[in-house]
Amino acid sequence: MNIAVKRMTAPEWRPAPPEAPGMTYPWTTPPGLGETVEVAPGVLWLRMPLPFALDHINLWALRDGDGWTLVDCGIAMDEVKALWREHFATSLGGDPVTRVIVTHFHPDHFGCAGWLARETGADVWMSRTEWLMGLNVHRDQEELGKTAQVALFAAHGLDTTQLGALTKRGNQYRKIVSEPPASYRRLRNGDSFPIGDHDWRIIVGTGHAPEHACLYCDNLGLLISGDQILPKITPNVSLQAAEPGANPLKDFLDSLDNFRGLRADTMVLPSHEYPFRGLEARLDHLGEHHDERLAEVADACAEPVTAAELVPVLFRRELDTHQTMFAMGESLSHLMYLVADGRLVRERAGTDGSDGPWRFRKV
Ligand SMILES: [Zn+2]
Repeated sequence: MNIAVKRMTAPEWRPAPPEAPGMTYPWTTPPGLGETVEVAPGVLWLRMPLPFALDHINLWALRDGDGWTLVDCGIAMDEVKALWREHFATSLGGDPVTRVIVTHFHPDHFGCAGWLARETGADVWMSRTEWLMGLNVHRDQEELGKTAQVALFAAHGLDTTQLGALTKRGNQYRKIVSEPPASYRRLRNGDSFPIGDHDWRIIVGTGHAPEHACLYCDNLGLLISGDQILPKITPNVSLQAAEPGANPLKDFLDSLDNFRGLRADTMVLPSHEYPFRGLEARLDHLGEHHDERLAEVADACAEPVTAAELVPVLFRRELDTHQTMFAMGESLSHLMYLVADGRLVRERAGTDGSDGPWRFRKV
């Protein structure tokens, strides 16, 4: 895979303006590559590059006795591995890695997990569903997942050029995720365990990923939110081909309630963009954002439309193959929410009597 990694420099990384009133960003400059910022006693913020439009991921190292617990891993790319080795020797002071916690199976989080486990001897801790998903996608050499996805998108009106481009892509996941470790330690919603001097509790979110583990420390007032709660971007919530009858947007919105009622001054440590305070305001805003989106989608279905026809309504810009895949998944998650809610109906009838693509119509 030919990946051109861009070195991040401070001027490119000004925080976006807060998305909602009541949110604040305590930091205006992120750590450079190979550097760390101590966001709380014994809690280090690291950044690793990503070869996507979203070109970085935030990772966390938590002081754990004489060693370090790592949270999330970066993608398995030589430059990221070299940066990890640099961190081991410098910012982590040569101390051992005690465990590697992975919030969810997406490649930027799980990519280096197997490599880190082999390199450091540490166990990987994940929720069971995320573990099985990671393993399954990594092992899918026959590309059953992609075949199902192409079929789902074809049935929802994606044109043949874009379906062709999607078909041609190999297993992208394997290219940026190292061989997963042979075993893992299971994290469950509500689990609480000490990391160094403090207890941390697992809070599971769904919708973006099936069993996404976040970590909350009441003592320190910190929430490591992964991709579940980001300050500015709304995480992708896609209907998956493996579960075409699911309602992931409802799962996502419902699970946001799991993050209510934490300490009012909680600092959220997200996987992208900047740490922030104002969690309740952000949760309110995420709910409002999707309500607006849903109303927009319902209005767009005054005349019957396919999920593909809705993509330019939801995303008013040019999309590449990778982005089209996410946009179709996102379009479908909104449509399926409205079908379950009774606001839309779904029907398919071709003009020639055969099955045409699914169309969605306002009730
Ligand atoms: Zn993710």
